[in-house]
Amino acid sequence: MKYEKINILPIKKIVENNAFIKTFYFEHQLEARPGQFVWLWLPGISEKPFSVGYQSNNEFGLTICQVGNVTKKIFELKIGDKVGIKGPYGTYYEIGKSKNIALVGGGYGSAPLSFLAAKTVKNNPDVNISFIIGAQTKNLLFIKPEDFNQKIKFYFTTDDGSVGTKGRVTDVLEKLLSENKIDYIATCGPELMQFKIIELAEKYKTDCQISLERYMKCSCGICGQCVVDPLGIRMCTEGPVINKELALKISEFGKYHRGPAGDKILFSA
Ligand SMILES: Cc1cc2nc3c(=O)[nH]c(=O)nc-3n(C[C@H](O)[C@H](O)[C@H](O)COP(=O)(O)OP(=O)(O)OC[C@H]3O[C@@H](n4cnc5c(N)ncnc54)[C@H](O)[C@@H]3O)c2cc1C
Repeated sequence: MKYEKINILPIKKIVENNAFIKTFYFEHQLEARPGQFVWLWLPGISEKPFSVGYQSNNEFGLTICQVGNVTKKIFELKIGDKVGIKGPYGTYYEIGKSKNIALVGGGYGSAPLSFLAAKTVKNNPDVNISFIIGAQTKNLLFIKPEDFNQKIKFYFTTDDGSVGTKGRVTDVLEKLLSENKIDYIATCGPELMQFKIIELAEKYKTDCQISLERYMKCSCGICGQCVVDPLGIRMCTEGPVINKELALKISEFGKYHRGPAGDKILFSA
């Protein structure tokens, strides 16, 4: 059972994606599915959950944004330094029989979607993929179309118009939906972005899966830290990837999440 096993792995490669995001690569057969996450343990510091952003037969990558104390320590790591990895855990994206899919990513959320894109190109080559990626400005975009099969159609949006379309990922998504070009949406990124995407998926009656990140402690469904109102389901086991129908039953979705002590933290636009 994977819950019990911690693999102590040296960092094989580090790529600096932008000023705030780095991808750490490890040589290990992880066998994760897109949307699943692992725990990265820094002995003496803490352990934190991170989605799998890249995976090949014998390698995987975690794309990490520096936000607080633990990610600051992770950013100080060098090639060859060892960390503990547990997992993979959680639910994953399932495109089913969809033929025209849209992947909509913001921030580090684009990384697990690029894993989904790469896997879909390999296993379902007849599926058309529109990959919509948004950022505040050009320097924060880190996905490079040249790293992918040319079959993926990329759309970039920036708030300041420094690259791609000026505006939001949801503007591009709505255009594609209104042209009847999409039958499944996978999204990962800021919760308010995902909330708006669910609204569009409802409006255009399109299947959609989101990734709902909640503060996690045990990751195996025991502690109850990551339960969501009012259903009480655990995002570490029944999530983080959930479908539109379930997301719409979660009253806190797009409104608030909880900190480590269970305190409510409101999302602000
Ligand atoms: C399923 C899942 C997948 C994630 N994937 C990624 C990823 O691919 N890349 C990435 O950069 N980040 C990811 N995160 C968020 C990441 O775990 C936090 O950013 C990180 O733990 C921050 O730690 P810190 O000490 O640097 O910052 P802190 O100052 O401790 O926290 C900053 C914010 O990070 C979040 N956070 C902190 N600890 C946890 C925790 N134990 N569980 C959930 N959220 C936490 C909270 O929203 C908090 O407000 C993921 C979280 C979840 C739940």
